[in-house]
Amino acid sequence: RYAMPRPAHRRVLTVANQKGGVGKTTSTVNLAAALALHGVRVLVVDLDPQGNASTALGVDHRAGTPSVYEALLGEISLLEAAVPSTASPDLLCVPATIDLAGAEIELVSMVAREQRLKQALSPDVLDQLDVDYVLIDCPPSLGLLTVNALVAAAEVLIPIQCEYYALEGLGQLLSNIDLVRSHLNTSLHVSTILLTMYDGRTKLADQVTSEVRQHFGGVVLRTVIPRSVKVSEAPGYSQTVLAYDPGSRGSMSYVDAAREIAARGAAMGADSAAGVET
Ligand code: ADP
Ligand code: MG
Repeated sequence: RYAMPRPAHRRVLTVANQKGGVGKTTSTVNLAAALALHGVRVLVVDLDPQGNASTALGVDHRAGTPSVYEALLGEISLLEAAVPSTASPDLLCVPATIDLAGAEIELVSMVAREQRLKQALSPDVLDQLDVDYVLIDCPPSLGLLTVNALVAAAEVLIPIQCEYYALEGLGQLLSNIDLVRSHLNTSLHVSTILLTMYDGRTKLADQVTSEVRQHFGGVVLRTVIPRSVKVSEAPGYSQTVLAYDPGSRGSMSYVDAAREIAARGAAMGADSAAGVET
């Protein structure tokens, strides 16, 4: 087992796509596990009221559990909500409870409503958690929660499902990213695109793959995540696919994808991360 290179600087990636079911949560937890099992420390922030990332990481997210919701409201420090996952002691998770469903509305009237997550993820907090990576799992919308995630990160990772209409709606996400960059977070850029649920038996999957590569070039990871039953079964056991079936194609592809992400991070200097012009 080769260790992942540690990034020169801490990397905060927001995993976003306003379409549901494209593999945001699956990619967040499995990439995070792959990184953590290979020698770097990772924090996953579950920003979806469904709490699917918390479930997959074996982290309690019943109502009343200290969660990202209280941290967004400033009632607690994120430190109080971050707990070790069952996936690895080097993989921490800030869970989401159902309370977060109300946050989209409650945040509207708050001061600095777009900056709440950024404030919670202060350098001091991240130093104390001693993490190299932060991965933020977004809900399937472009509301205030996703805006908070885009303000808190330098990088956006967009999972794209190898399916019909894969690129539909992506323009809206990219223009939102542009808006956030212009007004709230100048360092924001799309650093990574990950093709998910690839089914090699269909011609369509290849068409989507080449279309996405043509459009986004080198930002698209070479590794493609195959459609695999093991990947979809794992969360039912509160596990990542890396724990559920380490030798499966799904598991190995997430390790490969994580390795690519880590290699890019090691290659990029302080603030010179390459990204696409959106
Ligand atoms: P999102 O977070 O974007 O809504 P999910 O990660 O929850 O998407 O994935 C949607 C569904 O597809 C889930 O049931 C998940 O288990 C399944 N899924 C995700 N990736 C794969 C894959 N590579 N192979 C098979 N099923 C997958
Ligand atoms: Mg999800």
